[in-house]
Amino acid sequence: MNNTKYVFVTGGVTSSLGKGIIAASLAKLLQERGYSVTIQKLDPYINIDPGTLNPYEHGECYVTDDGAETDLDLGHYERFLNIPTSQANNVTTGRIYQSVINKERKGEFLGKTVQVIPHITDEIKHRIKILGNTGDYDIVITEIGGTVGDIESLPYIEAVRQLQWELGEDNAIVIHLTLVPYLAAAGELKTKPTQHSVKMLMQSGIGPNILVCRSEYTISEDIKKKLALFCNVKKQDVIQSLDAETIYDVPNLMFEEGLDRVVLEKLNLSTDKQPKLIDWNTFVAKYKNPKNEVEIGLIGKYVELHDSYKSITEAFIHAGSTHETKVKVRWIHSEKLANKNIAKQLANLDGILVAPGFGERGIEGKIDAVRYAREHKIPFLGICLGMQMAVIEYSRNVLGLADANSTEMNENTSHPVINLMEEQKDVTEKGGTMRLGAWDCELKENTKVYNAYGSKNISERHRHRYEFNNDYKDKIEAGGMLATGINPKTGLVETIEIPDHPWFVGVQYHPEYKSTVLNPHPLFLDFIAAAVEKQKNK
Ligand code: GLN
Repeated sequence: MNNTKYVFVTGGVTSSLGKGIIAASLAKLLQERGYSVTIQKLDPYINIDPGTLNPYEHGECYVTDDGAETDLDLGHYERFLNIPTSQANNVTTGRIYQSVINKERKGEFLGKTVQVIPHITDEIKHRIKILGNTGDYDIVITEIGGTVGDIESLPYIEAVRQLQWELGEDNAIVIHLTLVPYLAAAGELKTKPTQHSVKMLMQSGIGPNILVCRSEYTISEDIKKKLALFCNVKKQDVIQSLDAETIYDVPNLMFEEGLDRVVLEKLNLSTDKQPKLIDWNTFVAKYKNPKNEVEIGLIGKYVELHDSYKSITEAFIHAGSTHETKVKVRWIHSEKLANKNIAKQLANLDGILVAPGFGERGIEGKIDAVRYAREHKIPFLGICLGMQMAVIEYSRNVLGLADANSTEMNENTSHPVINLMEEQKDVTEKGGTMRLGAWDCELKENTKVYNAYGSKNISERHRHRYEFNNDYKDKIEAGGMLATGINPKTGLVETIEIPDHPWFVGVQYHPEYKSTVLNPHPLFLDFIAAAVEKQKNK
């Protein structure tokens, strides 16, 4: 038995209230007070993981070191806490059912009827306690996806009820995040939606211990009193969460409201040590008071939904803060680029980032953008598919291999400079079968990547099926594009660059996943530095 305490975060009234940011901000404050904390997200959908979801549906798919394809909230957890997450930090209904059904087939429930209660709820409780049972954490914060009252979240709410009953309220508490809307016509903040959503929770046997109320306007003491009375909590346990200028303000705002203090008091944990957030606040101050501004073109095919590139835009913020530079993003749809207005759409950019992606749509626009960056000496970062496009562009327009392509786009190309990885050739299932997670890479000295990292051996996270075709390596290097980072075991080319260019780097891996507030990613740091340089020389 260890003494891990559990904090559950549920949501009411509507989705998109920012449970993930509240959970991450609370965790940050507790971490600053000296507690070891981790955060877990339980997603009530039936997919095993979001890896097979279109980004338009669910935003970015975030990848952990251990190769889990997860919800983008895990990215926030890592960026705030600066500690890695893993598969155990994201569980879906699909995964829960899959393991219960696998056990049933093995005969583990022989003779019994397998039911939502107790079998599914037991599996949920088991997944929650896995993190606590490692003994690594004083506090585990578990965010329940969706909104209370959704049919699909019922088993999770029931599992939380049971856990709280088993562990006691000083070991497991529930924070309910709700909305207190302002009705302009009435000129008032309204508490009724919160009352209803708490009632719904209570019908499931859970009385929330703390209410966090999202609101556009200050919640008066009177309204807090009313919420407390109707929702069966103490007035000091009604915490207001006003709209923030940036998500990185939320830890400070929650501290001012006393969220971390009331959590600790309820869990019978010491509040002696105060959170200082020294490095955090340095980051926020620099982020809010930039001395320069650069504009980066982000070329992708999911740009209508900015969440599809969440980790990339956050990595810009981290690197921008270090350089005291505001990084403005110009969102450019790759499909709208091909052959049309390239110069106009890319005019005056200080940097170009060609984003990750899958499939043929928008590919030619990405290739044109690479060409523009290369020829106009604009700092360039190509990530995963973006790196592959850089290799194709170079092969076509510099080496003269006119139909060079990736076999993902054209299986019959006469120059497959990017092709399917050997280990992928027998793979038929789509879910969780890519080359995923952390792999080692060895960097060549005196290169841009080596200069950025300041070390030879790195490990970065991956999510791809195709790779640089080593049959073309000699030809491409002789032509002036160098393979500067190689997987030491397989020889797979991980990074390419053009020495005869101010800053042109492509990486097969995803550096954006590892950028955090306290550890901005070295490649983003150097990319933004190059953009600042470009901007100054204009
Ligand atoms: N579609 C490419 C591949 O599978 C790139 C993937 C990506 O950008 N994440 O290799």
